[in-house]
Amino acid sequence: MSRYILGFDVGGTKISAVIGDEGGNIIAKVSRPTVRHLGKKRLIQQMIEMGHSVMEKAGSADVSKIGIIFAGLVDSEKGIVKVSPNILGLNNFAITRPLSDEFGVEAVLENDATAATIAERVYGSGRNVDNFVYLTLSTGIGGGAFVNGRLMRGAHGMAGEMGHMVIMSNGPVCGCGRRGCLEAIAGGRGIARRVAENISAVRDSELFSKVKPNEIDARTVFEYKKKGDMFAQLIVEETIYYLAVGIVNIVNILDPELVIIGGGIANAGRELFQPLRAAVNQEFKSMYRQVKIVRGMKNGHDIAPIAVPVYLEGLEAKASG
Ligand SMILES: [Zn+2]
Repeated sequence: MSRYILGFDVGGTKISAVIGDEGGNIIAKVSRPTVRHLGKKRLIQQMIEMGHSVMEKAGSADVSKIGIIFAGLVDSEKGIVKVSPNILGLNNFAITRPLSDEFGVEAVLENDATAATIAERVYGSGRNVDNFVYLTLSTGIGGGAFVNGRLMRGAHGMAGEMGHMVIMSNGPVCGCGRRGCLEAIAGGRGIARRVAENISAVRDSELFSKVKPNEIDARTVFEYKKKGDMFAQLIVEETIYYLAVGIVNIVNILDPELVIIGGGIANAGRELFQPLRAAVNQEFKSMYRQVKIVRGMKNGHDIAPIAVPVYLEGLEAKASG
């Protein structure tokens, strides 16, 4: 029997299908942009087509399992998408069943940030670390945690929504409706908004004055900081301060050994991690403890749908053995 796993990542900007092995090696991948009005039937049709085409690309006619990761609230036990913010009309949708029927193997579903946390546990820096937090910094901020060696799920499967921790009680309105969430300030969209709010500083900056407002994102800000732009430096420093506040809040609650940071903003590399480590250590004040802050796996997003079934199989084996 094939030990290949078929993985799907249904995200806000693209949908990917990957074939990987149990060791976390990606054999083949196909992607298509996410269509907001796709609907249930066509989404499944598209996933089935992509599944067959990625299997063909990998030269494998069969797979042993399917892992689906979804950007939204899911009931992983029942394989149901509960809330879908990116693709309309998918609420309360049993997404695993049609795929499991088509490919003739079991399919499992997980939220994407939770899956990325699992991927770090199975293949990344979280191996052999029983207490760690994973934070994904991208357009939004999400995450997950392992506490005493177990994935923290919560009563409603909603644990780990670290981006919606309020760090500025009268701050900007967040997508969730509250004010001053970490995501609304230090997420990609929040960073871009903070730039746009400082029109005069944007005008004074040689670099920023040349780009269109809708082209300013976290990447541009870090890039311009590297080039020595004072305004970008300020925005980055502010972002790092708020991230540090958020991270120290999390550390004070969960007391992890390790904080793993993934997502597009983590691509800033040293520009982010060096000052962030310093800011976190300073923000601890008298609650100082040694916590490592490391970068997540570079291919974490591709591996995540593979890691989920591998992790669950490991749990079952442990329970029966
Ligand atoms: Zn929020």
